[in-house]
Amino acid sequence: EPGAGSDLASLATRAERDGDHWIVNGQKVWTSGAHKARWAILVARTDPDVPKHRGLTYFLCDMTDPGVEVRPLRQITGEAEFNEVFLTDVRIPDSLRLGEVGEGWRVATATLMNERVAIGSGSDPGRESGMIGVVARTWRQRPELRTPELHARLMRLWVEAEVARQTGRRLRQKLAAGQPGPEGSAAKLTFARLAQQLSGLELELLGAEGLRYGDWTMKRPEVVEFTGKDAGYRYLRAKGNSIEGGTSEILRNIIAERVLGLPPEPRTDKDVPWKDLPR
Ligand SMILES: Cc1cc2nc3c(=O)[nH]c(=O)nc-3n(C[C@H](O)[C@H](O)[C@H](O)COP(=O)(O)OP(=O)(O)OC[C@H]3O[C@@H](n4cnc5c(N)ncnc54)[C@H](O)[C@@H]3O)c2cc1C
Repeated sequence: EPGAGSDLASLATRAERDGDHWIVNGQKVWTSGAHKARWAILVARTDPDVPKHRGLTYFLCDMTDPGVEVRPLRQITGEAEFNEVFLTDVRIPDSLRLGEVGEGWRVATATLMNERVAIGSGSDPGRESGMIGVVARTWRQRPELRTPELHARLMRLWVEAEVARQTGRRLRQKLAAGQPGPEGSAAKLTFARLAQQLSGLELELLGAEGLRYGDWTMKRPEVVEFTGKDAGYRYLRAKGNSIEGGTSEILRNIIAERVLGLPPEPRTDKDVPWKDLPR
């Protein structure tokens, strides 16, 4: 939401019970794919009188409801993958509630942990695939671009990409056996760093040629595709990797607290009713 990004639990979209339905009012933002989605997942506040994490409920939302309005948000790449979504008296049947009333945070956390694994290591098309594959191909095809310094950087990133791929395989095996743990946050953090470093290296490799940018007219892509586009697109799109699915700062906090067991950030709002929190 505009006022609840990293601090998702402070969200303000309200769902009020009306018989066997819920009436939802509020606004969401950065909703990827909302313009083509038939269904959305939606977390709404059902009880403002309890602390923020406890008053949330998780729903499936029919995007064809007349109260749902979707507006494009254009990104630095020129594309509009995501949207603002305005919800005005949207009616959701109680049968489309996922989990118990007030248990939305638990369901949302499971969703987010799965999302981080999906972004960080969702699939394995094989060694030297994805961004490292693109850069390695440019390196092989364009020997005139090489310098010893760029070679050292490419080799280091190649090894890191391979370690990340192998770690992702292990993570998916664990996932198949149960719920993903906070390790998914580490996979997503590493993915974002590698994507940004590799796309930066590709631009440096290509020099002035890397500044060329094919088409900046607004498009509504069906899928987010890194390969098969300009190096400039990859460089710009990779910037969002350290924001989407939880920023790198938030992921470092999760790893610090849940993997390394370091002291948590001070949280003064944990036991305060949501309605009394400053916004
Ligand atoms: C390409 C893309 C697709 C997205 N798709 C979706 C989607 O489909 N659905 C959806 O709900 N959202 C989506 N998002 C939104 C994304 O989840 C949020 O942008 C993200 O969680 C950060 O929230 P925010 O933008 O409100 O930034 P803020 O939370 O305002 O953060 C601003 C800055 O402060 C830092 N910060 C905040 N809190 C802390 C803290 N406690 N400690 C240290 N640093 C902190 C952040 O790291 C960041 O650098 C998408 C974003 C992008 C870029």
